[in-house]
Amino acid sequence: MSRTEVSGMKPPLVPLATLIGRELRNEKVEKPSIKYGQAALAKKGEDYFLIRPDCQRIPGNSASSFSVFAIFDGHNGISAAIFAKENLLNNVMSAIPQGIGREEWLQSLPRALVAGFVKTDIEFQRRGETSGTTVTLVVIDGWTVTVASVGDSRCILDTHGGLVSLLTVDHRLEENSEERERVTASGGEVGRLNVYGGTEVGPLRCWPGGLCLSRSIGDMDVGEYIVPIPHVKQVKLSNAGGRLIIASDGIWDALPSEMAAKSCQGLPADLAAKLVVKEALRSRGLKDDTTCLVVDIIPPKHSVLPRTPKKKQNKLSSFIFWKRPQNSMTKSTSKLSSVGIVEELFEEGSAILAERLGKDFPMTNSEIFRCAVCQEDQPPSDGLSVDSESFFSPALQPREGPFLCTNCRMKKDAMEGKRSSPMTVTI
Ligand SMILES: [Zn+2]
Repeated sequence: MSRTEVSGMKPPLVPLATLIGRELRNEKVEKPSIKYGQAALAKKGEDYFLIRPDCQRIPGNSASSFSVFAIFDGHNGISAAIFAKENLLNNVMSAIPQGIGREEWLQSLPRALVAGFVKTDIEFQRRGETSGTTVTLVVIDGWTVTVASVGDSRCILDTHGGLVSLLTVDHRLEENSEERERVTASGGEVGRLNVYGGTEVGPLRCWPGGLCLSRSIGDMDVGEYIVPIPHVKQVKLSNAGGRLIIASDGIWDALPSEMAAKSCQGLPADLAAKLVVKEALRSRGLKDDTTCLVVDIIPPKHSVLPRTPKKKQNKLSSFIFWKRPQNSMTKSTSKLSSVGIVEELFEEGSAILAERLGKDFPMTNSEIFRCAVCQEDQPPSDGLSVDSESFFSPALQPREGPFLCTNCRMKKDAMEGKRSSPMTVTI
C-alpha cells in the first residue's frame, strides 16, 4: 500500500485489543534490543540531550515500545535548547493520528516531525527570547530508525561490515550551497565577518544576526528564512543491527565520521561514548561543548552488538542503501535483511512546508478543522485569510489540502520570505 493511500484514509477505528494483538504477533519475536551510552564535556554549557528508551505507541503495551534519543546544541543562550528538550517530542507525537497500526505510524512520522519542529519553533519564539538550538532527534522502532535534524549536530550509522553512513545533512551555510541560495532568495544576506580593515574572517554567516547555520529552532532575531523544518531520513536496518553515534559539532569538528565510528568499534555503548569524546579531545582540545550518544541496535539473542567481520572495504562507496521502490510497503525485505543491506524508506530535506506536509495530511472531520502544524482545532468559520496560493485549503474547501490556522499560515509565509515575522502580530 502506498504512502498516499495510507495517509489519505481517515484514521481507522481499531479496538485497542485488536491493536495489541497485532503488535504482539508481528513484533515481539524479532525485535532488537537497545543499549546506549552518553558522554559529554562542557565548554559553554549549551549542549543538552534527551534519552527516552521506553516510549509506547499504545500506552500500557510494552510490545509497542520505541526509543527516542536527541541532542540539542544551543547558541546565544540555553533557553531554546531547554525548551526544545522539554517540548519537541510531545509536539511530534501529538501530530501523529490516533488509533493507527505500526506501519501507518512509521509512515506518519516524517510529517509529524516536520509539524512538531515548526510548532516548537513557533511556541519558543512567542516567548520573545533570542537564543537558538540545533536538534538531532532519533526515533527507533524495531529495526526502523528515523532521524530528523536542523543545524549541524550529526547522526551516523555504523552497520554490517563496519560501513559508515551519515543520516543527517549539515545545515551550515559554509558547506551547503543549496541552503545559501535559499536563504539569499528569501531575503537574507550571506557573508563573512568583516574585521581588520576589510579582511573577511571565519565561516559564512547569515546577516542580520551572524548565524552560521541555515536551520535551527528559535533564533527569532536572525530572520524567518532560518527555518525549523528538519531534514528527515528513515531507514530499516538488516537483522545484523547497527550502531548510531549522535553528537554535537564538538565531536564532528574534531573527528570525521569514519574515525569516530572506528575509534569505538567492539566496545559496549557506554564505553564507546566516552571513548569518542576522549578521541575528539585528543585531536582538538576542548574548543566547544562536546556531547555524544551511542546507541546500539542489537539482534535478538545477542547481549552486545556482534563484531563486524573484517572485510576488504571500498572506501569510496562507504555505504550500501537499497531504495524501496515507490508504492511498495511490502514484506519483501527478508532476503535483503539477511545480507546486511540497509533499506532506505524515506528521505526529504526541502525547506518548503507545503512540500513536507503533503496534500493529504490527515484532518479530523469536515466539521472541525485541525491545523496541520499546531494541531489546534478551529471552527471553519474562523476568519481565515485566503491567498492566491491554492495548496493550503481555505476553510470552505476542506478536502483540497492541509489546513493551517492563521498563525501557522503566517509562519509559513514568513519562512518563505513572503511576509515579516508572525511574532509581530497580536495573537
Ligand atoms: Zn496552527
